[in-house]
Amino acid sequence: AAADVVFIGLGNMGMPMALNLVRSGATVAGFDLQSDSVARFVAAGGSTADGRGGAVAAARVVFTMLPAGEHVLAAYLGEDGILAHARPDVLLVDCSTIAPAAARTVAQAAAQRGLAMLDAPVSGGTAGAAAAALTFMVGGDADALARARPYLEAMGKAVFHAGGPGSGQAVKICNNMLLGILMIGTSEALRLGIANGLDPKVVSAIMAHSSGRNWALEAYNPCPGVAENVPAARGYTGGFGVDLMLKDLGLALDSAAAGDVSVPLGTLAHGLYARHSGAGAGGLDFSSIFAPRGAPG
Ligand code: NAD
Repeated sequence: AAADVVFIGLGNMGMPMALNLVRSGATVAGFDLQSDSVARFVAAGGSTADGRGGAVAAARVVFTMLPAGEHVLAAYLGEDGILAHARPDVLLVDCSTIAPAAARTVAQAAAQRGLAMLDAPVSGGTAGAAAAALTFMVGGDADALARARPYLEAMGKAVFHAGGPGSGQAVKICNNMLLGILMIGTSEALRLGIANGLDPKVVSAIMAHSSGRNWALEAYNPCPGVAENVPAARGYTGGFGVDLMLKDLGLALDSAAAGDVSVPLGTLAHGLYARHSGAGAGGLDFSSIFAPRGAPG
């Protein structure tokens, strides 16, 4: 039987998101370039189909959760892409983090074909994705959002309408610039505490009840041994890749340059993540900035 939903991009985020759609009762066909990801999705209760084009042609809703703008543009606009196959009453939702301008390009191409499209990037990390506790920041029209809401609520706990096409991405970029700065700042504070002979668990517990509290400290502690179920507890694997954070900081700098906004800390964070990636840490989780040579453990 044809799937209600096609979900393209079963990575660290897409996999748990797509599985939550399955749990909500939708039939979901999953696709990824990595065939072992598709196999794991099917083993966990999802489905797939022989061809992506045929599956898209039958779907009422198509979600994409891909690394960066180039992948999203190719997936939607390519010759054998989503727009070429989608049925006229489809709802298209891109949850990847990409430039607002790229999101508007895809939304415009969809609109020219009369197809409804939203940009709906997320916050909450892989733990939030697994727990169906993501925050969605949605750009696009209110009618399309009303149609998307039941699906988004199956994957998240907060759905915000930011404005027209691209505005979900515009908010997401502000958030992730702040997140990058907070992760670096939290790592510095913890290392300073350790250098002063303190137990990082104690420093973290006290700061979590003090004015330095923040999400990187409380929900995503970068110091190994402080928290369980975070990338720092498993050698910085899984989670949110350094190169994806570097991409988002790059998007923030582009958007700051375009708007003539001064972002000295965002600029510094971009430089520190670029150096970290250059040292070989690009594939590790972004909290590995705590162990700056990219050689954790
Ligand atoms: P990921 O690299 O783990 O997953 C991306 C997946 O897309 C991979 O499995 C890859 O094989 C697949 N892919 C790439 N091109 C494809 C194509 N053309 N067709 C099908 N599959 C394709 O990345 P992720 O961590 O899941 O992040 C996805 C997006 O979400 C990124 O834009 C990221 O910035 C954003 N994001 C990530 C997090 C996080 O905590 N990991 C949180 C919020 C937002």
